[in-house]
Amino acid sequence: MTKIAIIGGGPAGVTAALFAAQNNENLIYIFDKGIILNTLLPTGGGRCNLAFAEYNFKELAKYYPRGEKFLYSIFSRFSTAQTVNFFEKIGIKTYTQDDLRIFPESNSSKEVKTTLLKEIEKNKNIKKIFENVIELKKENDIFKLKTNKNSYTFDKIVVSTGGRGTGQKLAQNLGHNIIKMKPSLSSLVTKEKDYTDLSGVSLKNLTATVFFKNKKVKTVSGDFLFTHKGISGPVVYKISSYCAYIDFDGVNPLLISFNLVNKDFETFDEEFLKKLKNNPQKEAANVLCDYLPKNLAFKLFETQKINPKTKAGQLTKTDRTKISKTVTDFMFHATAVTKGEEIVTAGGVDLKEIESKTLESKIIKGLYFCGEVLDIDGLTGGFNLQNCWSTGYIAGQALL
Ligand SMILES: Cc1cc2nc3c(=O)[nH]c(=O)nc-3n(C[C@H](O)[C@H](O)[C@H](O)COP(=O)(O)OP(=O)(O)OC[C@H]3O[C@@H](n4cnc5c(N)ncnc54)[C@H](O)[C@@H]3O)c2cc1C
Repeated sequence: MTKIAIIGGGPAGVTAALFAAQNNENLIYIFDKGIILNTLLPTGGGRCNLAFAEYNFKELAKYYPRGEKFLYSIFSRFSTAQTVNFFEKIGIKTYTQDDLRIFPESNSSKEVKTTLLKEIEKNKNIKKIFENVIELKKENDIFKLKTNKNSYTFDKIVVSTGGRGTGQKLAQNLGHNIIKMKPSLSSLVTKEKDYTDLSGVSLKNLTATVFFKNKKVKTVSGDFLFTHKGISGPVVYKISSYCAYIDFDGVNPLLISFNLVNKDFETFDEEFLKKLKNNPQKEAANVLCDYLPKNLAFKLFETQKINPKTKAGQLTKTDRTKISKTVTDFMFHATAVTKGEEIVTAGGVDLKEIESKTLESKIIKGLYFCGEVLDIDGLTGGFNLQNCWSTGYIAGQALL
């Protein structure tokens, strides 16, 4: 018998346990300080966006600001197709949305959780231990694990404690380097407070260009949302991910220019002028409503100190230009990420010290890692769970 401890019963740890359990000679203990798989419940707004329909593994890896190259060999063995198959086999049919995100047909993360738990129950060689692992050592080829309640010994260990667990600390104590951890996929707090009353207003598929200290960082696109503290939505999550290691603040903010109409200034200005001419008796702000939600269109006139009730035919060229500039170059100064609201953690166990074919530590034999505890994180769209299924599979296979 090989005694294996899986520290952390999130999606990564559970996947590793299920694959490792295929060998009846393995006796597996899943340790969790909370409730196994509860971290799945809020995913995808309760619908569990479990993967993304990119079936080319190199293309899929491009969605990971950290871990791209490391994931090549992992995804070449287990990526989108294998994930969909795996879930189908355990009784979860999936479907793909127009935006390529993959969900269970039930649209229920609870169903994903209970189905995975049932799979665990089917394996007599998996035990669940609800204890907090506080210490991990290796002495004479044996791992000694201490929890808040007991002490255990194991032959092999998988650390799968996620981005906010204590696995990084356990790894560090065993000699691993930890890449500084930073919040990622977060909303942003902005200097601009004029738009707080638009909180909840959203815009589809905007393009944003990000600058830091006068240098362009990245251009990204996606849906956008005003919040009471600033800005959010998939486009902002992308910005927070690509800028996770930029130290921006009130003194050196990120400068973000959104194009609200996806047209360049000249094209938009010409089009807007035509519309104003064709509707001379309409309120000018109402003409802008052809492009933007009403409350935002009126707010833009207010912030530019132009009376929104000005008749379209009477809007001066200067004022029209101001509006056209604002909608094609709508600026925010992001001063911080919104505290505690990040979806994932960038950073973690240094990939240089991990064997990508097995996910075994290059420093300590018999010690494996999977999931978000590693220095791997993706954009929104199912990529972070994909990382868990894939790395969970690789670690599980290595334990067979
Ligand atoms: C609100 C929200 C929505 C999300 N939606 C999506 C989505 O739709 N699609 C997607 O791909 N990703 C999504 N994510 C990200 C995804 O949930 C995570 O990337 C994923 O859960 C990480 O899995 P993991 O198994 O590595 O770690 P976790 O899920 O964090 O699990 C780690 C487990 O380890 C346990 N643990 C930690 N330390 C210890 C210890 N010392 N001893 C014992 N147990 C310990 C914890 O209790 C926990 O159960 C979302 C995240 C959030 C916060």
